[in-house]
Amino acid sequence: MGLLTGKTALIFGVANDHSIAWGIAQAFHREGATLGFSYAGEKLERRVRPLAESLGSTFVEPCDVGQDDDIAAVVEKTRAAFGEIDILVHSIAFAGRDDLAGPYYSVSRAGFALAMDISVYSFTALAKAYLPIMKPGGAMLTMTYLGSVRAVQHYNVMGVAKAALEASVRYLALDLGTHAKKIRVNSISAGPIRTLAVAGIAGSRQMITEFAKASLLRRNITIEDVGNAAAYLCSDLAGGVTGEIHYVDAGYNVAGFPSPDEAA
Ligand code: NAD
Repeated sequence: MGLLTGKTALIFGVANDHSIAWGIAQAFHREGATLGFSYAGEKLERRVRPLAESLGSTFVEPCDVGQDDDIAAVVEKTRAAFGEIDILVHSIAFAGRDDLAGPYYSVSRAGFALAMDISVYSFTALAKAYLPIMKPGGAMLTMTYLGSVRAVQHYNVMGVAKAALEASVRYLALDLGTHAKKIRVNSISAGPIRTLAVAGIAGSRQMITEFAKASLLRRNITIEDVGNAAAYLCSDLAGGVTGEIHYVDAGYNVAGFPSPDEAA
């Protein structure tokens, strides 16, 4: 028996085999879950479908989370394919490349609104749309980053968006925890991992190198690390855990003054 045997999970946010959502999908599959996938747009289908099929999933449906009609359509397809689901994973963020370089204050009104819409509101929109077909005791999960609570150069509007996303997690955990279905809502704050989304942030390569030197485990984070934590958070083992920001960052967020490695 796996941790997720008998559970069905819908995963939003696989773009390729470097995506955090793909690490989550692999861990869920290993733990016995039945999987469905939703991807951003037609162009990604040729990458996402073979990945999904490699985990035995034929549910691979497009959804631009900026479009209410797309969300309604994918929920209906989910209902038709699975009836109810146990787990919803939101691993999606977007901001314009120009807004992930230079000073934060140069962000435009439109750039700010776009980052908030796709990176924050979409989780609330998916939670609302999926609630009618969530099984009682189910779990929802989203992905965040330390730039929500610290000023990280170039992370800019995405840091503001992640702060709002983390607040959304707490409000959704309240709403859905007190709902008759008792759904848990959590987030994982991952250390930096080289993915498509991160490639758009100025200086990300150096950030990843420096991270490994300063984290308590002196290493970078992998999508497998995140997938394993996600499997726990979405399993019954975490039945008493909701509204949390769970750090999967090799201890980076609790490190004090960076200390040079001492000779053993
Ligand atoms: P990624 O590029 O692989 O995933 C981002 C996903 O968002 C892609 O699948 C993309 O298609 C999807 N997306 C963007 N706009 C969309 C839209 N309008 N509709 C539907 N989907 C849309 O990168 P990733 O690093 O795996 O990012 C996944 C999540 O993890 C994001 O929320 C990101 O902020 C977060 N995160 C990443 C890191 C990291 O270092 N990679 C660290 C902490 C948190």
